[in-house]
Amino acid sequence: MAMLLAKKNLRALLRGAMDRKYRVVGPVREHGIVLFAEMSDPGALCLDELNTQNSIKEFFFPKTEKLFTYSLGKNDAAVADDFAPPRTVLIGGRACDARSLVALDRLFGWDYKDKFYFARREATCVITLACDRFDEACFCTSLGFGPRAAEGSDILLVPVEGDEYAVEAVTDKGRALIAEVKDVFTEGTPGAEKVAYPEKKFDLAAVKPWLERNFEHPIWKEEFLSCLGCGTCTYQCPMCHCFDIVDEGDIHGGARCKNWDSCQFALFTLHTSGHNPRPAQAARWRQRLRHKFVYYADKFGTEACVGCGRCIRNCPVCLSILDKLVLIGREAAAAPAQPAGAQP
Ligand code: SF4
Ligand code: SF4
Repeated sequence: MAMLLAKKNLRALLRGAMDRKYRVVGPVREHGIVLFAEMSDPGALCLDELNTQNSIKEFFFPKTEKLFTYSLGKNDAAVADDFAPPRTVLIGGRACDARSLVALDRLFGWDYKDKFYFARREATCVITLACDRFDEACFCTSLGFGPRAAEGSDILLVPVEGDEYAVEAVTDKGRALIAEVKDVFTEGTPGAEKVAYPEKKFDLAAVKPWLERNFEHPIWKEEFLSCLGCGTCTYQCPMCHCFDIVDEGDIHGGARCKNWDSCQFALFTLHTSGHNPRPAQAARWRQRLRHKFVYYADKFGTEACVGCGRCIRNCPVCLSILDKLVLIGREAAAAPAQPAGAQP
């Protein structure tokens, strides 16, 4: 016997969580756009779109957050840093979204453990929906996982025949939530899974070696000229995590804030001398790809891309990271790396 959830009971699950004082975050339609947002009514849950425009990262790593506030007296200073995130159920992310959390855990827990990020991770139960469809921007399978991967989820809901989800309780946190709202679940034999797998589009193993060998290559100027440097791709990416820390205040006090930043902005690397080591968009895009597929992979053993396709769907000039990865795969196949010691 397996645990099942009728699709018509999805909102009852959220109502049960709200009744038990969980904050609930899920996809809702606002001004015509489907976004992850805090919900006050389970009826607002909107699963019409394959995925949301924003990613779930802002519920763990907000666009801006106060690390602490301070007030300055004549001879002293007082600092306050009380922080307690609400118990949260986050529903409606996909396998790619959940996987991004596992990859971000490595970054935020690396040399310094980011207490804000991990407090939110601890307080949040992630309920993921395996995909019953995909679009041309999806490429999770090219990154070595797929639309029903459970990594990063606390509960995975897999659509099956009969308008139901097969329920996989992945972690103790997920099991605890299921026990709290157990009335909405049933037991039975699940029907056949209705999971849709996008085809594999490039050879991931070829991307990193090609990027390492080709810091200088005509591709950088030829392929990224159209980029506006707007940063949309980085802000909507579940994996992009550049931030800046600034003090916002006056002589009486203020707050130290952590704000999202973007490697696609010219100011990101501008020195006070006026020199900019990444003077053009080509260099900034090269950094974006090398960070995601070389440096992050070297440091954390995984790519800083989960193939969600948000940057592709939302780029104002239709610049597609997937097209570029396919192109790099073709370039790598045409000029494979020489074995060590071989003459070029
Ligand atoms: S969204 Fe498109 S135009 Fe904007 S920075 Fe990213 S690639 Fe460039
Ligand atoms: S780079 Fe694009 S496809 Fe990859 S995780 Fe970020 S938004 Fe998704």
